[in-house]
Parts: sequence; structure tokens; C-alpha cells
Amino acid sequence: MESILVLTHVDDSGAALAKTSLEAVSAALNLATRLAAPLSIGVVGGDAAVAGQLAQTGARLLAVSGEAFAQARYSSDAAACEALCRAAQASIVIAPGCARFARVAAGVAFRLGGVIDTHITAIGGTENVEASRWFYRQRLEAIIGREARPWFLLVDPGTHPVYKAPSSQADPSTATVEEIAVELPAQRTTVTGVRSPTLSGETIRPEAKLLFVAGAGWTKKQPDGQVRSSDAAQLILDFLRGSGASLGSSKSLVDQTGENQQVLPFLTHLNQIGQTGATPRHRKGLSTCCYGEEPHVVGWRFISERRAISLDPNCGWARGKADVVYIADAFQVIAELNKLLNPGQG
Ligand SMILES: Cc1cc2nc3c(=O)[nH]c(=O)nc-3n(C[C@H](O)[C@H](O)[C@H](O)COP(=O)(O)OP(=O)(O)OC[C@H]3O[C@@H](n4cnc5c(N)ncnc54)[C@H](O)[C@@H]3O)c2cc1C
Repeated sequence: MESILVLTHVDDSGAALAKTSLEAVSAALNLATRLAAPLSIGVVGGDAAVAGQLAQTGARLLAVSGEAFAQARYSSDAAACEALCRAAQASIVIAPGCARFARVAAGVAFRLGGVIDTHITAIGGTENVEASRWFYRQRLEAIIGREARPWFLLVDPGTHPVYKAPSSQADPSTATVEEIAVELPAQRTTVTGVRSPTLSGETIRPEAKLLFVAGAGWTKKQPDGQVRSSDAAQLILDFLRGSGASLGSSKSLVDQTGENQQVLPFLTHLNQIGQTGATPRHRKGLSTCCYGEEPHVVGWRFISERRAISLDPNCGWARGKADVVYIADAFQVIAELNKLLNPGQG
């Protein structure tokens, strides 16, 4: 019989489990129920008491905690995960594909003589474990089975619901959490702090409900013969501020940076959506000044509700790739939307 362990970590607040960890807990609970297999949950973080929040899962709770484990660092995280896997004697290890665990999971699998698959989007099977992932830029879905154990599965963020305790009455402090001792190797890395871009500079927001995509049309000659790139930049930034949307781009628009053409200064290739770009997960998407070519739209696979604003009634979106297409001038539409979103501005 399989023995399942889910690896989780405490978030930056130090008082709760990271959201991606709670998604992995959901995936593991589901699998453990289907296989009728024992489930352990391992927690890495500064304070082991956080593990008590998972008491109602009925799983065996293990923790590696203390000052050294409060911050992400390869040597301490890898040692903690290895110790948790050994303590749980796990044959299946499920972990969130977050930055912290994606960095160490392959190394830990190697230390345990196991195997790993990443970017897992679903875990099925009632007799055997069947892990799904997408290949070739989300065009082909593969279902993977393996005999080698332990088998590490790194679950993509956003693919599973966040675990919520069924009752808010239970007292987490009464949970039994087994503290696992870890002998750390000499630490060469000291974490002195975290530096992140200022909020106004962050245009990629994975948690946003809406993906706003800018296409090359924003910087092209408009029907009045003018190029209005600086108007475009202001309209887009105002829209992002008012709506909290994440900013995506077509390849053509980000490529212009290297071609000495008029560009939107806040866009980089990290914003690019599509076959050679990202495939983000947002509930809704609004495409603007973008044609809707297949290599772009393939990056919209996980966007459930799609709308587009284009001047071209024959664009790709209008041919069945969007739920709603507004044949309109995006400069005018976004200016009107911004008045609604940012009423204080003139
Ligand atoms: C191997 C390969 C991989 C590729 N990978 C990607 C990828 O990952 N991502 C990607 O995006 N592309 C990719 N492409 C390129 C893709 O095929 C398209 O060329 C690109 O997506 C077109 O970008 P666009 O729609 O922004 O620009 P355009 O095709 O120039 O379209 C601009 C649109 O804006 C409209 N418009 C102009 N002004 C306005 C206005 N005022 N209001 C409303 N609409 C307006 C126009 O009518 C037009 O439809 C790839 C191509 C290849 C060959």
C-alpha cells in the first residue's frame, strides 16, 4: 500500500500555511481517500504550532521548525524535507510547485533514491497513482504512472482548491504535532531579508481574477494616422491600478523592444502569453488590441471567461476563440472603463 506525505511550508507571516501548500493538502487528501492510504503532512517553518491548523485532516502531523527553517534556503529546506520524508516512510510525496519547494524537491528526491515529476495539474487513479501534466505548451495532456518509489509530485499552483478546515470550532493548539529533529550541515547562506519590486512596478499578479492582455495594436498607427503609445501606456496603467488585473502581452508587442519601435516601457518578455510565453491561470481574461492568433491564444487555455476588444471583426477572437468580442476602439473603451474604476481622476 502507498504511504502518502504532503510537504507544506509556513507563509511569510509566520502564522499560517502558504496558500499553495494548502492546495497540495487538498490534492493529497483526495488521493489518500481514494487509495485508502495513510496520509502524513510535513510542515517546514519557524513555528511548528502552525501545523495544528491541519488537525481536522486526520493526517499524521510532522514538523521541522525553528529559526533556521523560517526562511527559504536550499540547504536547510532540503534537509528539512529529507527528514520529513524519512520520518513518514513515504512512497508518494506531494508538494506544491512553489518557488521554495521547486528549488529543493529534485535534490531531495535524489537523496532518497526516488523520482520526481513536476507541473502536475491533477492526480487521479483508484488502484494506482496517475499524475497528469501538460506538454508542448499545454497542447497535449499526459497521464503518468511510475513504479519507482518514492515518487515526488510537484503540483502546479492554482490547480487544486485551497484546503479549509471543515469546522472553525476546533482548537488547533490541542493537535498532536511530531517534531522531527534535523541536523543541519554548516550554513553558508544567511538570509538577510527580501527585496521585491515596489507594488506599482508589479504588473504580473498571479492571484488576480482578471488577466488584461495588451496587443501590438496599442502602439500601431491609429485610424487618425497617429501613434499614441504614451496614451496607451497611461490607459493601461490606470486600468491595472483600478482593476487589480494582471498584465499579459502578445509576443509582437514585447518583441518591439528589440526592434527600436515605440514600446510600452513596463512590458517585458515575462508578460508574454502564448506558445512561447506563459499560460497563466485567471478566472477571466480581457484581450485588447490583439488579433488572437493561435500561438497567442494557446496561452489562454486555463482562462475560463474570455473577452476581447478589437477593431477587426474578422480577428481570431471573433472566430470562436473568445466568449464575447467587442468590435470597438480599445482607447475609447478603456478610457470609459477607467472613469468607472478610478472615479476620483479627471
Ligand atoms: C513559433 C511561433 C510562436 C509564437 N508564440 C507566440 C506567443 O507565445 N505569444 C504571442 O502572443 N504570439 C506568438 N507568436 C506570434 C503570433 O503568431 C502573432 O504574430 C502575435 O500574437 C500577434 O500579436 P498581436 O495580436 O498583438 O499583433 P497584431 O497581429 O499586429 O494585431 C494587432 C491587432 O490590434 C487591433 N487594433 C489596432 N488598434 C486597435 C484599437 N485602437 N482598438 C482595438 N483593436 C485595435 C488590430 O485590428 C489587430 O487585430 C508566435 C508565432 C510563432 C510562429
